[in-house]
Amino acid sequence: MKILVINSGSSSLKYQLFDMDKSILLAKGGCERIGTAGNITHKVPNKPDYKADIDLPSHDEALKEVFKLLVDKQNGVLQSIDEIDAVGHRVAHGGERFKKSSLIDDDAIAYLESIVPINPLHGPAAIKGMKACKALLPNTLQAATFDTSFYANFKPSRYIYALPYDCYTNDGVRRYGFHGTSHRYVSQKAAEFLNKPLNSLKMITCHLGNGSSITAIDKGIAVDTSMGFTPQEGILMGTRSGSIDPTIIPYLMKRRNLTPEQMDELLNKKSGLLGVTGISNDSRNCEEAALAGNERANLALDILYDGIKKYIGGYTAELNGLDVLVFTAGIGENSTIVRERVCENMDYLGIKIDKNKNDNFKRGIINDISADDSKVKILVVPTNEEYMIALDTKELYDKR
Ligand code: ADP
Repeated sequence: MKILVINSGSSSLKYQLFDMDKSILLAKGGCERIGTAGNITHKVPNKPDYKADIDLPSHDEALKEVFKLLVDKQNGVLQSIDEIDAVGHRVAHGGERFKKSSLIDDDAIAYLESIVPINPLHGPAAIKGMKACKALLPNTLQAATFDTSFYANFKPSRYIYALPYDCYTNDGVRRYGFHGTSHRYVSQKAAEFLNKPLNSLKMITCHLGNGSSITAIDKGIAVDTSMGFTPQEGILMGTRSGSIDPTIIPYLMKRRNLTPEQMDELLNKKSGLLGVTGISNDSRNCEEAALAGNERANLALDILYDGIKKYIGGYTAELNGLDVLVFTAGIGENSTIVRERVCENMDYLGIKIDKNKNDNFKRGIINDISADDSKVKILVVPTNEEYMIALDTKELYDKR
């Protein structure tokens, strides 16, 4: 059985094709600069990468090019596009309706269109991808996995902001949470690795990438997370500030005469590691600069470590204990120093890292980096959101 996973952005479309019987990736790639110029990358394991500049006026055209490559004599992996049994779409926001991965029909698309006001960046792009797929593969099952669904079981005190209550009822302002597919995937993998039932474990999963979030998971169910109404809330990220005193926003808007869009750009694109260091949003560059003695790079990383520690402490209190701490995503999977600094002086909570294991971790597999006497297991778990989406899509396909 073959499943195509699509992640559609405003000017991009990424894809991965899986053979679910063999649990392997057949091909992956992406189209960029859709609508302005266009280029496409296509990778097949053990073959040279294919790259081309190509005019991509719309998501429909981009998808057509992807399909051509998938059946291409030289670069293809399929005889015919009909071999694709189902398509799984990655959707950031499922609003209050989608509490799990679901089939996508016209009614589902209409609902997603209705929540574009609370998801203006990703919503329209995801809908474009779904419509393009429906047009080109009208008889193929289409499903979607939502980053927000993992948080559907929060108790109200974890998702209602202390604003006038009608901001929730009239305006949809609540905490939704994001990166749920990644947190769900790594929590399952961590339990498998430890050979313990997921429903016996208290976990905190740290997805630290360009966007970062931390989630508290009790017996496999997410009970709190750091991102909120948008991915802006929480810890310092590559270019996002994370949580700040909200009154800073009107203060700066008045003082600098900023429009809402300019203020949004300042918070989302010019803050975080980039904003504090003035060097880069990439943690590797910031780590290098910090090692070379750059004070603002050291400061930015200290803000990051402190922020993560506060969430771990807070969530351990909410969970009333902790069995497993997971690091994942670009920084979590790769940065030895971030893991070391986050875990230092946390033995009160039962968290003790083994420096040697952390320094000598192996990329691409699960690593246990906890000290032998650490009460909490500290794991590095590579995330794979696309494969999780393929698994969910397969489940819906099998149940249809
Ligand atoms: P996104 O949120 O865009 O999916 P990623 O999960 O790919 O982001 O993470 C990007 C971040 O991961 C960047 O800040 C980058 O510095 C960091 N990163 C990636 N590879 C490494 C590495 N080998 N060592 C340290 N940091 C890394």
